[in-house]
Amino acid sequence: MAVYRPTIGLEVHAELATRTKMFCDSANDPDEARPNANVCPVCLAHPGTLPTINREAVRHILRIGAAVGGTLADYSEFDRKSYFYPDIPKGYQISQYEHPLVRGGTLAGVMLTRVHLEEDTARSSHAGGKSTVDFNRAGIPLMELVTEPVIPDAGTAGRFARELQLLLRTLGAGNANLEKGEMRIEANVSVSPTPGAFGTKVEIKNLNSFRSVERAVAFEIARQEEVLGSGAAVVQETRGWDEAKQATFSQRLKEGSADYRYFPEPDLPKLFLSEIPEFSYDAIRASLPELPEERRARYEKSYGLKGDDVAFIVASVERSAFFDAVARALNNDAPLVRSAANYLVSDLAGIYAKRGEDGYAGLSPQSFAKLIRLTAAGDLSSRGAKDTLALLVEKGGDPEALARDAGLVQIHDAAALGKAVDAVLASEPKAVGEYRAGKQAALQYLLGKAMKESRGAGNPELLKKIIAAKLG
Ligand code: ADP
Ligand code: MG
Repeated sequence: MAVYRPTIGLEVHAELATRTKMFCDSANDPDEARPNANVCPVCLAHPGTLPTINREAVRHILRIGAAVGGTLADYSEFDRKSYFYPDIPKGYQISQYEHPLVRGGTLAGVMLTRVHLEEDTARSSHAGGKSTVDFNRAGIPLMELVTEPVIPDAGTAGRFARELQLLLRTLGAGNANLEKGEMRIEANVSVSPTPGAFGTKVEIKNLNSFRSVERAVAFEIARQEEVLGSGAAVVQETRGWDEAKQATFSQRLKEGSADYRYFPEPDLPKLFLSEIPEFSYDAIRASLPELPEERRARYEKSYGLKGDDVAFIVASVERSAFFDAVARALNNDAPLVRSAANYLVSDLAGIYAKRGEDGYAGLSPQSFAKLIRLTAAGDLSSRGAKDTLALLVEKGGDPEALARDAGLVQIHDAAALGKAVDAVLASEPKAVGEYRAGKQAALQYLLGKAMKESRGAGNPELLKKIIAAKLG
């Protein structure tokens, strides 16, 4: 059987978080529930209206470009991309063609072609024999990011898409929620039987989750291999993803860029970006927060965290902000921070998952840090820490008081434990004799009795030491 080499290139659109729309001052509120509430003559495409460029949106794209190490344009302009559709009443979309704001860059090991700025379309719905158009979304600033055809498999495509979402959230550029359509992914897939040559590509749309990106790409690779294997040719087309059938299906043959009749938008000024101080590379670069990859490297280097833990914590902006606050509360003491990471990953996240929440906002980082200190000091066993953590999430407050009220605090006062050990040794002459005769198992037995005597509150390590010392 022939060996086929799959190639994937992604095109990603994401709504940008700005106060107003891309070319007018209607509100940019993706959550507005009332249809056609955020509209004006410009985004309704009334004849004779003039667009103006949203500075905040340009800045978002440049920051994204700097974050991926791309080249920020000195010169940029907008173009009209003409096509007819009820959700695009101007008859064209304002986009960028020859002179995007950003070229190149790399994210999650994937080379990027470009990042540009355009406007979102209105939203049309068809229900009950009626078609309606809601213009709230029309003109919301939209990022389009295009990767080079370099992604080798479905898993890499999924990882890239997740990393992009995380980057947009980290930059405050947008929420990029796929399920809400705030981020939309199109996957171009081809398979080639010939080394060094590309096969015919198929574009897949309607991918509403990371899982559907991965599954659709894997499905499409297998489908194309089968087509080629049977001696037929892959048709260049646009296919949709059918979530119920877990299969792609043919939608339409793809139009070429010539059909869009791109030409420079005459109603907008050209952008000479290098002449605008706030858009200089240095200014943009200096405005960036710590990026996910930098954060991962810092966690590994400063605290010696394990790769899996780092990946999990950094994957959510909220979670890593919480973790950073905990680390600060622990004075960045590496062993304590590692212990905090442990409890966060294996216990706290589980508690939140069970509660159906992904939040950390309700939990005080100082309280969590205090719980970690209590554990390190031996005041809480690891079992006690888990139980206290559950109480802390449920009730909030002081972890020490919560643990005390629940009887979870360990006694590690040597004098108090000494009394418990004395009582046990006096009532267990047989085990004492065995221990003295060199039977190590007797120590475990006596420890169990001493734990019981201290009603489970004794610190086992300390109890063991006291028993050994008294019998030594
Ligand atoms: P089009 O002109 O059809 O839009 P582009 O060259 O603009 O094509 O590329 C669009 C997307 O398709 C990019 O993400 C690119 O990486 C990807 N792509 C291009 N050629 C291939 C191919 N042979 N196989 C897979 N993806 C491809
Ligand atoms: Mg294209």
